[in-house]
Amino acid sequence: MTSTTDAALHAAHDRYRASHPLSAAAHERARAVLPGGNTRSVLHFDPFPFRVAEAAGAELVDIDGNRYTDFLGNYTAGLLGHSPPSVKSAITDALERGWTFGATHEVEIELAELISARFESIEQVRFTNSGTEANLMAIGTAKHATGRSGVAVFDSGYHGGVLGFGPDPDGPHSALNVPHDFRVGRFDDIEGLNSLIGDDVACVLVEPVQGAGGCRPASVPFLEALRQRCTDVGAVLIFDEVMTSRLAPGGAQEQFGVVPDMTTLGKYLGGGTTFGAFGGIRSLMSAFDPSLGGALTQAGTFNNNIVSMSAAVASVTHELSPARIREVNQRGDRLHAELAAVFDDARSAGLPTGSVYPTGVGSMICLHCPDDRLLELLFHHLLDEGLYIARRGFMALSMAITDSHVDQLVAAVKRWATSPLLPELEA
Ligand SMILES: *Cc1c(COP(=O)(O)O)cnc(C)c1O
Repeated sequence: MTSTTDAALHAAHDRYRASHPLSAAAHERARAVLPGGNTRSVLHFDPFPFRVAEAAGAELVDIDGNRYTDFLGNYTAGLLGHSPPSVKSAITDALERGWTFGATHEVEIELAELISARFESIEQVRFTNSGTEANLMAIGTAKHATGRSGVAVFDSGYHGGVLGFGPDPDGPHSALNVPHDFRVGRFDDIEGLNSLIGDDVACVLVEPVQGAGGCRPASVPFLEALRQRCTDVGAVLIFDEVMTSRLAPGGAQEQFGVVPDMTTLGKYLGGGTTFGAFGGIRSLMSAFDPSLGGALTQAGTFNNNIVSMSAAVASVTHELSPARIREVNQRGDRLHAELAAVFDDARSAGLPTGSVYPTGVGSMICLHCPDDRLLELLFHHLLDEGLYIARRGFMALSMAITDSHVDQLVAAVKRWATSPLLPELEA
């Protein structure tokens, strides 16, 4: 049965198909050799995703020539905007000197110094190729240090492609998860911590603000209670700051005033290149120092690859100043507040769009809606207006997004929220 909402979605898909013929053809070509037409499942949306031809600053251009202001910022990895000159020249300079050494070099030292100076919990650090890998290594380090097997995580937590947890602690969770002895607790539930974290738990892995879980911030009392409980039972507290380290110069641990034993990093810190890192207090990280009797070896052909190391050094040195980090997050706070006001007004006016609401902290924002088709309509409306966010409502401001881009997004959302053409939602 076709409802008015379904009919509106149908029309949105038809409009999208008409303006994206080359992406449509590319999708069919892709599906023959890439299951689902892609190699990163989150990038799919119906009827098919546009294919990017090029990007610069805050703008994406697809192969059909459509232009979008990029409010997704590659799920936080694109914090610097597209092709920042300082990172581009650091990469090209590095390439002049060769790029696959099978040997150590000095750039990795410089990056480790920069990162340990920036994040309070990190005395020593090691690099990986992704945030997923960083979390796997941190868990392994904690299990080794404690001789315990339990790994406590929280509902809707996302720590990578093999570490994904559903909204119900009892499951289901990602079928691709690695087989650790996971204990899944309720996020932000202080009462539940004592039973969740016993003396058989090696570590607790938590995002201070859940990213993929819908930009859900933990309360400071929860993080403080978590810190205390881990100290009491001797479990390693790991903050997954792959996303949240962008929220303040010293990461969410600085912003919330709670210092973990280990921290994992990734995404934007590589300046948009392949990147991950895990670090922590010396007593834990020394497990990787054979001269101190450490028994762990961390493998990874590309762990110190010169492209990522050079791009990360340039990013931290030239782009990620405390002032600029504060600025992008303040701009996110403004966008968040203005979006909330748009939907509050719609709610007061009794409009169906009043069921949409934003969550998040600083430059991480997510729009939620109990009716997913309504959210999809908003997503397609924004594409029609040349504005790109994640299909699931997520956005991550980049430093290339200006106040006027923010004003454009708010105005576009407002046009949609108050549109008389929008269908009434059937009960
Ligand atoms: C993206 C993400 C990861 C995984 O990082 P990849 O580089 O995609 O493997 C881990 N944790 C959080 C919180 C993330 O947002």
